[in-house]
Amino acid sequence: NADLAMYKAKNAGRNGFYFYNDELNKALQESILLESELRIALKEQEFELYYQPQIDLKTGKIFGFEALLRWNHPTRGMIPPNIFIPVAEQSGLIVALGEWVLTEASLFIARLNQKHNQSYMVAVNLSARQFKDKNVANIIQHSIARAGIKSEWLDIELTESMLMGDINEAIHQMQDIKALGVQLSIDDFGTGYSSLSYLKRFPIDTLKVDRAFIKDIPHDKDDMAISDAIIAMAHKLNMKVIAEGIEHKEHVQFLVEKHCQVGQGYLFSPPIPEKQIELFLNESQVYQHLFNH
Ligand code: C2E
Ligand code: MG
Ligand code: MG
Ligand code: MG
Repeated sequence: NADLAMYKAKNAGRNGFYFYNDELNKALQESILLESELRIALKEQEFELYYQPQIDLKTGKIFGFEALLRWNHPTRGMIPPNIFIPVAEQSGLIVALGEWVLTEASLFIARLNQKHNQSYMVAVNLSARQFKDKNVANIIQHSIARAGIKSEWLDIELTESMLMGDINEAIHQMQDIKALGVQLSIDDFGTGYSSLSYLKRFPIDTLKVDRAFIKDIPHDKDDMAISDAIIAMAHKLNMKVIAEGIEHKEHVQFLVEKHCQVGQGYLFSPPIPEKQIELFLNESQVYQHLFNH
């Protein structure tokens, strides 16, 4: 994207100017193309939600799922969200796309919990622009009502960077959303700039420890110290902790030892389409051996 092109240009030395123009041009053209394709994609229903299982680290049972957006582009194949979300954000399309995600995820929750007679949680990522929208609580409320689900089954994920700037305004928005009875989480925790002193003022239920702090456990002692500290702090603030990016059983062992409640990662399952969930639910006992300690 343009930021990346700018960054590269600044580091390109004497020829940076030409490099900058080239790269920026390419990045701009690409994002203009993507933007017009995104508009079509919304109309043509090229988007799909995948769901990544989250495992209760105490019992090994399924805790819930995180909804993750996928774009099945007709010629370019699957385009990952890190590519198109920033474009959707800049162009304002994220408002419509985000509303689609909330509607779709809520209907999924209704099917899932009705079919299995369960109370699985489903997390939905909110973008910065959606979170700033004065109408966001109404939009969430509407999707809950339409699907006829319990609001407590829906978990709204925010990132630290959205909570910067006008803190009072951010708290106000969070309170509006919390008033619906949904859960609120901070995603990618530890990678942003949120001040710990604000954390206690936020009506947050869950911290999601970023994958960056998990991936090198048990080799990186600093990451272990940081994860340990985040988990302990969250618990003292009465928040739940979900660890992201669990890929190895050593990760599970460490997190179980630290009483981290929930885990998510490729070790358990990648994000999967809804039609594969039935199979996952039937076979998920295979994780049980990870929890016999
Ligand atoms: P995120 O919310 O932090 O989601 C977790 C990302 O980590 C997902 O990438 C997931 O597939 C990936 N992941 C899960 N387990 C592992 C693991 O064990 N190892 C590794 N290496 N990765 C793992 P994904 O689906 O590509 O999504 C990337 C980001 O795009 C998300 O990060 C989120 O910030 C954003 N995103 C996805 N869906 C939506 C959406 O509906 N709305 C908004 N606003 N953002 C979304
Ligand atoms: Mg997330
Ligand atoms: Mg995350
Ligand atoms: Mg992330």
